[in-house]
Amino acid sequence: MTEDTVFMKIIRREIPADIVYEDASTIAFLDIRPNNPGHTLVVPKTFARNIFDIRDETLDAVMHTVRLIAPAVRNAVSADGMTIIMNNEPASGQIVFHAHVHLIPRFSNDGFGHLPQKQYVPGEAASIAEKIRQALA
Ligand code: 5GP
Repeated sequence: MTEDTVFMKIIRREIPADIVYEDASTIAFLDIRPNNPGHTLVVPKTFARNIFDIRDETLDAVMHTVRLIAPAVRNAVSADGMTIIMNNEPASGQIVFHAHVHLIPRFSNDGFGHLPQKQYVPGEAASIAEKIRQALA
C-alpha cells in the first residue's frame, strides 16, 4: 500500500487541480477527464486505498462532503441528476489507489443510461444472500 498517490500530490499542492472545496479531513476537485462537465472527486486527506480498508470516520467525512457539495455541483452545470459512485479495485475500474467518491453530473440526454443489468438463475440470489449473511456473522 502506498500513500504517495496523485491525490496526495494534489492535497500537498505539488500538482495543480481545480479545487472546489477543502476542509480538515477532505478535499474536492474536478476530475481531469470528466464523464460530464463538473465531474468532481471527493478525497480523504487520511490515506485509504478504497472501501475495503477505509476507516468509518474517514468515510463519514467523505460522505459529509459529498452531501455538502452535490447541490453546488448540480447547480453549477445545471445538471438534471447525479451519479455518485466509488470504484474499488481494478475490476471495478479503480485506477487511482487512494479512496475517492465520484460526483458525476447527469443530463437527460447524456446517453449513459444505467449500468447493464443481469438476471439470476433460480436459487442463485438466495444462495448468494446466504453467503453474504454468513460472511457478516
Ligand atoms: P477511478 O477510476 O480510480 O475511480 O478514478 C480516478 C479518477 O481520477 C479518474 O476519473 C481520473 O480521470 C482522475 N484523475 C487521475 N489523475 C488525475 C489528476 O492528476 N488530476 C485530476 N484532477 N484527476 C485525476
